[in-house]
Amino acid sequence: MNQLQQAKIDEFKAHFRGNLLHPRDAGYDEARQIWNAMIDRRPALIARCASPEDVVQAVGFARKHSLLLSIRGGGHNIAGNAVCDDGLVIDLSPMKGVQVDPKARRATVEPGCTLADFDAAAQAHGLATPLGINSTTGVAGLTLGGGFGWLSRKHGMTVDNLLSADVVMADGRQLHASETENEDLFWGLRGGGGNFGIVTRFEFQLHPVGPDVLTGLIAFPFGQAKSVITQFARFTETMPHELNVWMVTRKAPPLPFLPGDVHGKEIVVLALCHAGDPTEGRKLIEPLRRFGTAHGEHIGVQPYTAWQQAFDPLLTKGARNYWKSHNFSRLNDGAIDTIIEYAGKLPSPQCEIFVGTLGGQAARAAPDAMAYSSRDANYVMNVHGRWESASEDERCVAWAREFFARSQPFASGGAYINFLTQDEADRVAFAYGAMYDRLVKLKTKYDPTNLFRMNQNIKPA
Ligand SMILES: Cc1cc2nc3c(=O)[nH]c(=O)nc-3n(C[C@H](O)[C@H](O)[C@H](O)COP(=O)(O)OP(=O)(O)OC[C@H]3O[C@@H](n4cnc5c(N)ncnc54)[C@H](O)[C@@H]3O)c2cc1C
Repeated sequence: MNQLQQAKIDEFKAHFRGNLLHPRDAGYDEARQIWNAMIDRRPALIARCASPEDVVQAVGFARKHSLLLSIRGGGHNIAGNAVCDDGLVIDLSPMKGVQVDPKARRATVEPGCTLADFDAAAQAHGLATPLGINSTTGVAGLTLGGGFGWLSRKHGMTVDNLLSADVVMADGRQLHASETENEDLFWGLRGGGGNFGIVTRFEFQLHPVGPDVLTGLIAFPFGQAKSVITQFARFTETMPHELNVWMVTRKAPPLPFLPGDVHGKEIVVLALCHAGDPTEGRKLIEPLRRFGTAHGEHIGVQPYTAWQQAFDPLLTKGARNYWKSHNFSRLNDGAIDTIIEYAGKLPSPQCEIFVGTLGGQAARAAPDAMAYSSRDANYVMNVHGRWESASEDERCVAWAREFFARSQPFASGGAYINFLTQDEADRVAFAYGAMYDRLVKLKTKYDPTNLFRMNQNIKPA
């Protein structure tokens, strides 16, 4: 920023309670880093907001000076839209308040909270709402894209549990959105990502969960993959809503319950969580053990918050990542064979193909009830390309893209907006399917100049 702009920054600073970071400031480099190390952007300014009023100031500053603006919640989004080059990052991560009303079973959550922050506060009262499976993910981005995790079959998508939101709009207004107030905005926020405004407060429905739940992993030899994944596919079509089972195929990490000679070899893992009475859960998971001759298993009753953090060590910040994702209504032979073929040529020890299971209450809402509309997505497949060195970029990205293309014929419609990468702008309309035109109208109403465009962008008409 030149001298003239410095005067403008000083004016902004005068009205800003949080912390403004300029490239020369200590903490700037840390603040511009996000989960995916493939993204390396240098914003002109990072506004670390302390309050909704700070967000209003920051939006006004970007609008007035025609600055590119990006919104950072937990900084986990694979596409990297939380940071921008030469523009203003509105960093919400310092806004970390959570308030739980245990009687009403409701929580209000500020947009800088991670899943760990929210889970800890709610579980202090034996409550929770469906969130994702990696506790360092941001509640904000996850919710605005739809949100799903272990509890979704029992309690729906994260957006199904959103009761209201406070939003700073492109013109600086602060609106409250719910089923009865600014209903169209509320419809769009539930799946439409950061396209319509900046949410400064979420209100969620909570449910009794645990606090102890039956969870765990069963690891099968890769040689049994066809039989295990086929049985997984059929079992998950009819399992009770309390139970969720996901499948991941990858090279075995050095987990203590696996024999040493399996470490580093391809395996098929079933990950399970039963959100009900553990004794009942033990009976329900019994068939899973007979899907093959397991290398080992690690199953037990543990705090729900511990299970929510169980995958954190495999999903640390700072690796290079490239993902591709399809929705499936059913996993047929073709899909299973393609998964096995590409799991047989993993380009790095951290790459994996995972299939998250939805259905149950996640399929309950009508497809047009809100912007998230993929109610027929009983499975969300994600190919996690993950590696350490830039020299591996080409090989790992090519593997992910090739698998994605080869598995496409078996996919159902739509795509999970939160799993799209930075080069998939052309898939946004496809991801929203029949909801897209309605989203364009909403965008035109609330953000006609596309101020909020660092996202999976819905362009105004
Ligand atoms: C390791 C890992 C595991 C994951 N597991 C799951 C999972 O189990 N289930 C699941 O559903 N998803 C999962 N995700 C995907 C995750 O939901 C998305 O990456 C999500 O966008 C992350 O939100 P964030 O706030 O951390 O991201 P950010 O990168 O900070 O934000 C993403 C985008 O959301 C928008 N945004 C963020 N905050 C706001 C706000 N307050 N107001 C308006 N717009 C905002 C902005 O457009 C921003 O670019 C996972 C991601 C990772 C990296």
